[in-house]
Amino acid sequence: MAGYDYDLFVIGAGSGGVRAARVSAAHGAKVAIAEEFRVGGTCVIRGCVPKKLLVFGAHFAEDLKDARRFGWNVPDCDFEWTTLRDNVLSEVDRLNQAYTQTLTNNNVEIIHQRATVTGPHGVRLADGREVSAKVILVATGARPDVPSCPGHEHGITSNEVFHLEALPKRVLIAGAGYIANEFAGIFHQFGSKVTLINRTDVILRGYDESIRDRLLQIAMMKGIDFRFHAEFRGITKDKDGCLTVEMTNHEPITVDCVLFATGRVPNTTDLGLENAGVELDAKGAVKVDEDSRSTCPSIYAVGDVTNRIQLTPVAIREGHAFADTVFGGNPWRVDHENVPHAVFSHPPMAGVGLTESQARQKLGSVKVYQSDFRAMKNVLAGRNERALYKMVCDGVTDRVVGLHMIGPDAPEILQAAAIAVKAGLTKADFDATVALHPTMAEELVLMR
Ligand code: NDP
Repeated sequence: MAGYDYDLFVIGAGSGGVRAARVSAAHGAKVAIAEEFRVGGTCVIRGCVPKKLLVFGAHFAEDLKDARRFGWNVPDCDFEWTTLRDNVLSEVDRLNQAYTQTLTNNNVEIIHQRATVTGPHGVRLADGREVSAKVILVATGARPDVPSCPGHEHGITSNEVFHLEALPKRVLIAGAGYIANEFAGIFHQFGSKVTLINRTDVILRGYDESIRDRLLQIAMMKGIDFRFHAEFRGITKDKDGCLTVEMTNHEPITVDCVLFATGRVPNTTDLGLENAGVELDAKGAVKVDEDSRSTCPSIYAVGDVTNRIQLTPVAIREGHAFADTVFGGNPWRVDHENVPHAVFSHPPMAGVGLTESQARQKLGSVKVYQSDFRAMKNVLAGRNERALYKMVCDGVTDRVVGLHMIGPDAPEILQAAAIAVKAGLTKADFDATVALHPTMAEELVLMR
């Protein structure tokens, strides 16, 4: 590393950056990581982890009601947002410390400052210090994209939602993707009146149509209000603090909180990447090759900042592959095919591989199998909510090319089934497996 302060300088201590730093250091590299906020990144600090804890908390609303049908004398319960909020934030603190400890244990130097790129091997820290590194890894993630409508500053994003002072009685959510549908479920279960507005009439674009339709149907049945073809026009803050939202094609609505969930943009603004000739795409994402190398040979990028697949486990893999390839003498590449994904809505949905329409476009001949059923627990609970599992197969080879589901525990079930899809198994292989009765997952081997 002649002439450089570090072998590797990582900018951003989120999922991808932390993994890359830790593994590179374990391979013997001298590593520093700069983080302007908290170690852990979006997933740990203001994303997947606290969100999932809120999902657990929200589920009690239905579980407590259902318990009565199972013989439990449950008194009328009420929910205290501040207790859950504070417990969740404490857990985030614990994880933040655990991530910091992991880096320290691996001799990674943590620099709690913003860092910008000054050249192919140069980094400037916020305090003015200049350092050099043989390799720079950009792992700065992404941030919420807020539409620039009048009064947008009165709304919040997923960054702020975990810190709310009080539970809003009425909440309007803009967007109909992952975050919108997850928080629609969470707020609804906590007792807020939820209105979700979307610029088109398609929720969760990219998910299988039948599964999305089922979520929409169940969510509407539960009482979540959807407004489609509703483009944001603006927010006005009334004297009493309430927010009135104007939109196209619908009457204005007054709420206590507006949550923007309208996508995320890569964090590349003012990062100095142009100083090193690092090219960005039209969305501002760092352009990388299959080894996560940018157009500057000494600068790499992993995770959401590359806008390949904005999921934590993908960023972690990209960071790991980078470290093994560049510092471990063991080159490998991340396979971005058949990555399982889930939406922790109420009920949750999950999928892997091609949707039915993608498969028809790609393969032409496709066979689709479905199981549309009411989970046993829901039957006794008197909960009129049907689960839907869908298997998409290549019409010629019988290979399962897509698996999509909505229903209780769908993400837990799908993770195991995704192994079979990734391994290229056929419908006949699924059918050759004896059902595990009585479970919901047994539907996977009984589909007609
Ligand atoms: P998504 O991309 O999932 O959804 C964005 C939504 O906002 C879409 O409905 C989109 O509509 C709409 N939208 C986009 N731009 C505008 C605009 N200018 N005005 C009005 N509506 C707009 O983004 P999220 O913010 O929900 O989540 C960001 C990413 O984070 C996800 O894509 C996912 O990768 C990740 N994530 C993953 C989770 C998980 O794994 N469970 C949970 C949360 C986030 P249209 O369809 O028309 O573009």
